[in-house]
Amino acid sequence: MPLLAESLIRDVPDFPKEGIVFKDIHPVLQDHAAFQQAVALMAAEAKRAQAEAIVGIESRGFIFGAPIALELGLPFAMTRKLGKLPFDRVTEEYALEYGTNTIEMHTDAVAPGTRAYIVDDLLATGGTAAAAASLIEQIGGEVCGLGFLIELTFLAGRNCVREYPVSALIQY
Ligand code: AMP
Repeated sequence: MPLLAESLIRDVPDFPKEGIVFKDIHPVLQDHAAFQQAVALMAAEAKRAQAEAIVGIESRGFIFGAPIALELGLPFAMTRKLGKLPFDRVTEEYALEYGTNTIEMHTDAVAPGTRAYIVDDLLATGGTAAAAASLIEQIGGEVCGLGFLIELTFLAGRNCVREYPVSALIQY
């Protein structure tokens, strides 16, 4: 069966700024069969990595991460943008093309020693994914892999997370 999501990724040129081609996943989410297939294939990758918990990256990582966790019967945890989390947390700042970004995670989001699998919609430069991996390790978790719907291979984001297995359903 072909990968249904592939033809449903919408390119939006010059968003959020000139020169960036934004990969819009809304058409995938609007197509039940494509969305379901993408979640099933990403869940299979997480299972192969012997995940014991799924960690979704805010915010589109939640859209795929939560159903993957439900499909595999695993706990779901979140990394969130700065200032959103109410409980004790760890913080990681990372570089963007211009400036920095900060993400956080609750200290009890993943139990120590747990094999955590990171999920997001898209791997670009890899900075966000590497920061999420660092948060998991700061709270004692073990990163067993990362899964994405889309990978922009020309940005070589895998280099930022080269110590972990990475899978992506669609590569550009
Ligand atoms: P990065 O840290 O550079 O790997 O960026 C990854 C995050 O930014 C992901 O959460 C993506 O949702 C978002 N992102 C980066 N580039 C794009 C793009 N061209 N289209 C859509 N989302 C993007």
